[in-house]
Amino acid sequence: MKFFVCVALLAVVPAVFGVNNWSYHTQETWPLISGSQCNGNSQSPININSSIATTTDLGSFVLDGYTDENTNMDLVNNGNKIVIQFHDDVEDLYKLSGGGLPTTYTATHIHFHWGSMNSGGSEHQIDSTPYPAELHVAHYDKSKYADLTAAVTSMQWDAATILGAFIEVGEHNTAFDPFLSHISQIANYSSGVTSLGQGNLPSFPIRSVLPSDLSKFYRYNGSKAVPDCNEAIIWTIFTDTISISQAQLDIFRTVYGEHADAQGNYEVVDNYRYLQPLNGRTVYYSRPTPESTDGGAVTISPMRALFIVALTICMLFNRF
Ligand SMILES: [Zn+2]
Repeated sequence: MKFFVCVALLAVVPAVFGVNNWSYHTQETWPLISGSQCNGNSQSPININSSIATTTDLGSFVLDGYTDENTNMDLVNNGNKIVIQFHDDVEDLYKLSGGGLPTTYTATHIHFHWGSMNSGGSEHQIDSTPYPAELHVAHYDKSKYADLTAAVTSMQWDAATILGAFIEVGEHNTAFDPFLSHISQIANYSSGVTSLGQGNLPSFPIRSVLPSDLSKFYRYNGSKAVPDCNEAIIWTIFTDTISISQAQLDIFRTVYGEHADAQGNYEVVDNYRYLQPLNGRTVYYSRPTPESTDGGAVTISPMRALFIVALTICMLFNRF
């Protein structure tokens, strides 16, 4: 009897106290949280089946300000993941458009998901294969919404967008050093020191932590992958991956969070949501066609090259 009362309480408490009490250890209770849309039809993350993705060319991304350096960002242990939060004035530096997005979006933070073992840790999977970790850059439509929270709670499908990239184990990646070298200072959530602010975090351009090739990606409409699971996110998952060393990945695994697992362990690992059903949604695979621009280098088709040669000859004849 006591057992059933406890189970009932575990289900009801999150519903009463709202989204702040969710954890990755109790995902089955997320749909019970008051106002949650976690059992909706367009949820994230998903397994991307490459063989049924619709191939297209959504064009190149335009990343404005992503190569600039600034110091106005905080490194945060929010109790369930590591976040690099941009200050309001810095947000305006980062504008994302192109890539088939319907408008221009403003970057607001970067966060990470990772596993306890290298065999898993990413939220998304490609052909049922997970990666050891996944990086997300969250953006919202600042022309319409005050902040990311206002955007996702609007429930408009295009209110926010996330750039996602898989992290693999390989060579040491110096682009990750500016923040990984400081995680030890915020690694223990219960210490109360959970944020490293301006001036204490070396500056870095956020483009440096993204994959080098952003021209090929998957695209689908989905949701925020934590409660309230609002279906207001346009997702991009790049096919090119990021490499970091095993030692760098292990630094993520030194983080202690807010919620314990069933064994009373507060280590932040396996902080990803379970895969969600596709429910008939279309997943696009975008890659440059021969006539399009790829990474700043314009590829010219034979017909266009012939036209340019003919035009040059005509201009020379006119000149002489
Ligand atoms: Zn995420």
